[in-house]
Amino acid sequence: LASDSLPTLFKTLTFACEKHANQRRKDPAGTPYINHPIGVASLLVEGGVTDLVTLQAAVLHDTIEDTDTTADELETIFGPAVCHVVLECTDDMSLPSPERKLRQVAKAAHVSQRARLVKLADKLYNLRDLCRAVPVGWSPDRVQGYYHWAKQVTDQLLGASPFLDKQLADLYQNGTFTY
Ligand code: NDP
Ligand code: ZN
Repeated sequence: LASDSLPTLFKTLTFACEKHANQRRKDPAGTPYINHPIGVASLLVEGGVTDLVTLQAAVLHDTIEDTDTTADELETIFGPAVCHVVLECTDDMSLPSPERKLRQVAKAAHVSQRARLVKLADKLYNLRDLCRAVPVGWSPDRVQGYYHWAKQVTDQLLGASPFLDKQLADLYQNGTFTY
C-alpha cells in the first residue's frame, strides 16, 4: 500500500462512518455498525491484501445495501473500480430474503477476485460475530442455518486468499456452532 494511499483510505473510512453512523449490529450490546466494515477491511490487511481498491470496497461494502448511498455517489467520489466491487457485494434488497440468499450462492463463483476477497472476509467476520454473541431473537436453528448458508457461499470463493481460507477452515472445523 503506497503511502499516498492513506489519505484516500481515511477519506473512505470517514465516508463509511458517516453513512453507518446511526446503525447498530444485531448483537445484544448493539455494537456500532461501522465496527463491521472496518473489521472486514482489517481481516484483509491481516491476510496481506495491499490493493487500495479492494480495501476501499471492504470499507464501503454495506453502504449501498444498508444506507441511502447510491452507486452513482460511490462512482463519483471513489471511482468506477471501487463502485463495481461494492455492487458485486450488494444484494438486491427488493427481493425477499430467501431469494437473496439463493442468489448469493448462485453468484459467488462468478465475481471478480477483489469481490471474492471482500465477500470471504465479510462472511468470516459475520461467522465470528455469531460465535462471539448470538444476535437478539435468534434461535439456535437460525444460527445454524446462517452457518450452513455462509459455508455454501464461501466454499465457492476459496482460493482467493490462503489466509482467509485457513481462518474459515479452522472456524468450520472447530464446530463452534454445535449446540
Ligand atoms: P440475516 O440472516 O440476513 O442476518 C444475518 C446478517 O446480519 C449478516 O449477514 C450480517 O450482514 C448482519 N449482522 C448484523 N449483526 C450481526 C451479528 N452480530 N452477527 C452476525 N451477523 C450480523 O437476517 P435476515 O433478517 O435477512 O433474516 C432473514 C433470513 O433468516 C430469511 O432467509 C429467513 O428464512 C431466515 N430466518 C430464519 C429463522 C429461523 O429461526 N430459522 C427465523 C427468521 C428468519 P452484513 O454483513 O450485511 O451486516
Ligand atoms: Zn457485511
